Amino acid sequence: MSSITCAQALAAAYGSGLERLDAQLLLLQALGKPAGARSWLLAHDTDELAPEALDAFEAMRLRRMAGEPLAYIVGSKEFFGLALQVDARVLVPRPDTETLVEWSLDLLEPLNGPPALRVLDLGTGSGAIALAIAHSLKAAGRAAAATAVDASAAALDVARENARRLDLAVEFVHSNWLAQVGESFHLIASNPPYVASADPHLVALRHEPPQALAAGQDGLDDIRKIIAQAPCRLTPGGWLLLEHGYDQACRVRELLVSQGFAQVQSRLDLAGIERCSGGQWPPGPAIPALHAAAGGQT
Ligand code: GLN
Repeated sequence: MSSITCAQALAAAYGSGLERLDAQLLLLQALGKPAGARSWLLAHDTDELAPEALDAFEAMRLRRMAGEPLAYIVGSKEFFGLALQVDARVLVPRPDTETLVEWSLDLLEPLNGPPALRVLDLGTGSGAIALAIAHSLKAAGRAAAATAVDASAAALDVARENARRLDLAVEFVHSNWLAQVGESFHLIASNPPYVASADPHLVALRHEPPQALAAGQDGLDDIRKIIAQAPCRLTPGGWLLLEHGYDQACRVRELLVSQGFAQVQSRLDLAGIERCSGGQWPPGPAIPALHAAAGGQT
């Protein structure tokens, strides 16, 4: 039987149309090596692959070529510096969503007042937003209680397992948006489904849970529900931050304003697109530090 080296297997995979980085990461996975070991591949390009590794690599190559996200094939995705385990039960965390986490942390950072900062991630999926916020607050020595909600029990299993592996305390609630949530929060952050149901991009996203992606004719069905429900679950002066589609910022700001939110504004993602919009729930005495945070940014 002819043997194949690492370099030959990679060259064949590139030739078949697989991205270089994807091919390298899949070969490392097939060899049981960490994703950070790409230099190992260079140093070992004349090593012959064991038949089992070659078979595993070929099976993963075919899955990737069929459009399955790399994160599902290797079983993990880095988000905000955390290695999250992911599979087809949850949306793959996107770098765009880090904008939402950064904005949340900016708002929470100067808040020293309440003993326990209460933060809610609505539609948590893999747990990405709740875990990133909980991890950052814990690293900063802040007392905080993070809650994460999802309508999918299967997604909550993934998120719970990520919290356990990362040793982060998050309370998980099985709920359709805020239906089963009783407390109030200083901050609610959400990356809800926001793709229009007839959007052709959904074809490329067919391996991910459709209920985590599509939200009615204009993609705003869930955002409308969240904006309508959130005021009852925000402490006075609390913030609602929403991720949305590249062309939805204006409409989401309008929805927030017409609901009565104050300080309504948007934030850009790394590509310079208005990717998140949010506002502060104004009635009652506002928490001073949250006001201070709001004043420092536009
Ligand atoms: N940002 C994702 C995409 O367009 C969609 C995520 C979502 O609907 N929340 O690929």
